[in-house]
Amino acid sequence: MSESSPAAFGQLATQLDAIEVLGPQDLDAAFEVAVRLEEEARAASAVDLQLRARLVQAAVRGRRGETAECGRILHDVNRWAAEHDHQYLLARSHRHLAAFFRQLGDLPAALEHAVRGVELLDETAPAPIRAYHLATLADALTNTGSFDRARQRYADAERIGEAVGDVQLRLLVLNNLAYMEHEAGDPYRALATAERMAAVAAAYGVALDSFSLDTLARTQMRLSRYADAEQTLQPAISARDVLAATEADGYAECLLTLAEVQRLRGATERARATLDECLRICERSDLRRIRMRAWGERAELYAALGCFEDAYAQYKVFHAEAMVVYSAERDARVRILQAVFETDEARRTSRHYRDLALRDPLTGLYNRRFVDGQLPALLREAADTGAPLSVALIDLDHFKRINDTCSHDAGDQVLRKFSELLTAGIDELCGCGGPDSPDAFAARLGGEEFLLVLPGIDGTEAVARLEKLRDSIRAHSWRPLTGDLPVTVSIGVATVPVTGASQSALLRRADHNLYIAKHAGRDCTVGDHSGSTEV
Ligand code: GH3
Ligand code: MG
Ligand code: MG
Repeated sequence: MSESSPAAFGQLATQLDAIEVLGPQDLDAAFEVAVRLEEEARAASAVDLQLRARLVQAAVRGRRGETAECGRILHDVNRWAAEHDHQYLLARSHRHLAAFFRQLGDLPAALEHAVRGVELLDETAPAPIRAYHLATLADALTNTGSFDRARQRYADAERIGEAVGDVQLRLLVLNNLAYMEHEAGDPYRALATAERMAAVAAAYGVALDSFSLDTLARTQMRLSRYADAEQTLQPAISARDVLAATEADGYAECLLTLAEVQRLRGATERARATLDECLRICERSDLRRIRMRAWGERAELYAALGCFEDAYAQYKVFHAEAMVVYSAERDARVRILQAVFETDEARRTSRHYRDLALRDPLTGLYNRRFVDGQLPALLREAADTGAPLSVALIDLDHFKRINDTCSHDAGDQVLRKFSELLTAGIDELCGCGGPDSPDAFAARLGGEEFLLVLPGIDGTEAVARLEKLRDSIRAHSWRPLTGDLPVTVSIGVATVPVTGASQSALLRRADHNLYIAKHAGRDCTVGDHSGSTEV
């Protein structure tokens, strides 16, 4: 059969390479081609090419807001690729899953998939595909606050875009990089990047889309360059009829930015008219989130006009709507995840990724994100039942000396070994008498600082048990790792209901007690009843 010859496969694969890197303007075209290629691949019994075509369809559906359907396809393809050890498809599906989770607002899961998407791509992958994977990783790093690492990936992606002459890719990267610089708190770099994006577009005679215009205008606005910002948005306003039909959300964003710029310039009448137009578009195209922000902007405008009563009333509407929008988004997210991950196996996989994102890579202990997710509920439970709950902040003593005298690597090994001892200690800490607690856990908060959470254990008991842990740390044979240097810890314990029931009050108190332990000469434990003063 001629369709199944390697030459036909090669042609199909090349066509897929081409549509996999199509920009957002070509969504409908990409979808049509992908459907046709899927048919051809099916006729040629080329399952992997068929699935690649389905990935393109899933990506388009995701962009169109058909999130559940998009997730279902991605999940199927990802599972097939894992079962058949098909590395390229696995990499591609992970990258798209990253975008899917980002859209759902599950940022740790998005980062995990984005990392896998880059890791699994080998040198045979087309350069633009690699660039898109890097850009997706950079987006996920931006969303989780790792700006330096994001900047590096954007730079790599941009270099590839330049090398292969892919202008759309470069514009996409520069747009997202400008946003990142803004998030990183550097408005000057944000503006320089957005201006570079505009220069690239101009050099190639490409018009910026509404989202990119909005990015540039916002960066200008933040540096009080209001006239420039207004001028930047002009092409979007001039193309209102087309944009309102094809890029309603981008156009509405532009209007919202324009209204803000006009208000800041003191052109309040124009700002009011712009905002009205923005709200009209939002109503017509059902853009709830932008409409909510437009209501917030309207409150700002009333305040600028000195109509404080109206401003207050409008703020209330804005806040009420924000609650509704966020909770609707949460519900939608749960529904979509249930629809996509309905099998047990799939649920395990997603739990696996979630769990990874909640772990510290060096020690395997839980990380701060896990603590923030877990502790408030445990505290609420303690408050409801009246049971005590203790936490212990544990900090290694003179750890810098170990790094400096031995090596950073030896320091890492000490942290790992210490974490093992801590994990082993938990069973003992919670198991001997008293209410056993399946909820007890240890986490690494950062550097050489750790947290133990001990539900059901009161302050006196906690200090007694932690003293044993402290002894066992000092008694451990550290000589192979640190030579003559001892390894000891100082511990600050705090307990509810002795402190207030909030997480911050509890941790502040533990930190205070740790501070006292350090000043008492280190290698000791201080709890709420160890003679400390009130905080
Ligand atoms: P103190 O007894 O007052 O706590 O003194 P210290 O030296 O332990 O505390 P300090 O805060 O001065 O130093 C902590 C050091 O921990 C500095 C930092 O370089 C090191 N550190 C942080 N994270 C890591 C890591 O992941 N690996 C290694 N090897 N060192 C780390
Ligand atoms: Mg220390
Ligand atoms: Mg420290």
